[in-house]
Amino acid sequence: MADPGTTGEFALIDWIRRQEPERPVDSWTRVGIGDDCAILAVGEGTGAGCDLLITTDMLMDGRHFHLEQGGPEAVGFKAMGVNLSDIAAMAGIPRAAVVAVALPRANAVEIAHGLHAGMRALADRFAVDLVGGDTNAWDGPLVITVTVLGQATVRGAVRRSGARPGDVILVTGALGGSLAAGRHLKPEPRIAEALAIHRAADIHAMIDLSDGLSSDLGHILAESGGLGAVLDAVAIPIHPDAHEQTRRDGVSALEHALHDGEDFELCLTVAPEAAERLLAAHPAPLYRIGEVTDAAGVFLRSPDGHTTPVEPRGFDHLRAGNER
Ligand code: ADP
Ligand code: MG
Repeated sequence: MADPGTTGEFALIDWIRRQEPERPVDSWTRVGIGDDCAILAVGEGTGAGCDLLITTDMLMDGRHFHLEQGGPEAVGFKAMGVNLSDIAAMAGIPRAAVVAVALPRANAVEIAHGLHAGMRALADRFAVDLVGGDTNAWDGPLVITVTVLGQATVRGAVRRSGARPGDVILVTGALGGSLAAGRHLKPEPRIAEALAIHRAADIHAMIDLSDGLSSDLGHILAESGGLGAVLDAVAIPIHPDAHEQTRRDGVSALEHALHDGEDFELCLTVAPEAAERLLAAHPAPLYRIGEVTDAAGVFLRSPDGHTTPVEPRGFDHLRAGNER
């Protein structure tokens, strides 16, 4: 039997990452595979350089959305939103987008108009220019790939890799059940929130919650050198949709909050003093859910102090049975 540690989407991404040759000294790449955005040092050495953020996400009919149910406008909104969420995860400012589509031949133009309206809604709100793309039609289902380019602020991009033992773990909103009422189609990119928090305090590490808290916090801990975390069960903010999902499937709302994907809230770690300051000054909604530990592994602490391990059970495209 294959070792589960070496299979799955994240093992494959790790393999791709390891295939990358060593970069020449004049490479612009500051951060490559492994974070929410890549960071390119554009114009390095010219005295007018800036850190460019790049992120891309592909959405497929039948996997990330059902075109028949939501219509093309909802798809365009989601495609732009999930990318903007990755810019938020670096505390960056989005600037431009390119869009590649494979349109179903039958309704190609009508679908393209709907996609555009949905993307434009978010592009207008965040002042993103649509600067290019690629248009194809075929007999297959709708596929859309949006790539967003953004800019790090003068405070620098926030990485997944900066968490430290003793850090407080915060999230920007309630979690779980995003499928129950279609909230997964309407991501609210936390761009303004990330910038406000970053201005108010030094964020050590940050990620957007696309695959689920248990998996995405795991990425922060792994990238930060194999750290662990203790989460307070009663402190995790649970979305009303998670309770709705519980009524449907009997799985506890806390489990939904820990493992469901596509909340698109931010999960960040900061020093304890910074957490105090942030929770008092409230630059954005913030919930303290636990702390980072030296020892690897994520644990859930109940009010009586008892801890149980939390497995990363968020979304993985290559795991059998992971159907949406
Ligand atoms: P996110 O959920 O933030 O979009 P992913 O989990 O999709 O991030 O990807 C994790 C990291 O792996 C990112 O840095 C992403 O750019 C990179 N990545 C994913 N798929 C590939 C691929 N096929 N080739 C190169 N890099 C990839
Ligand atoms: Mg992300």
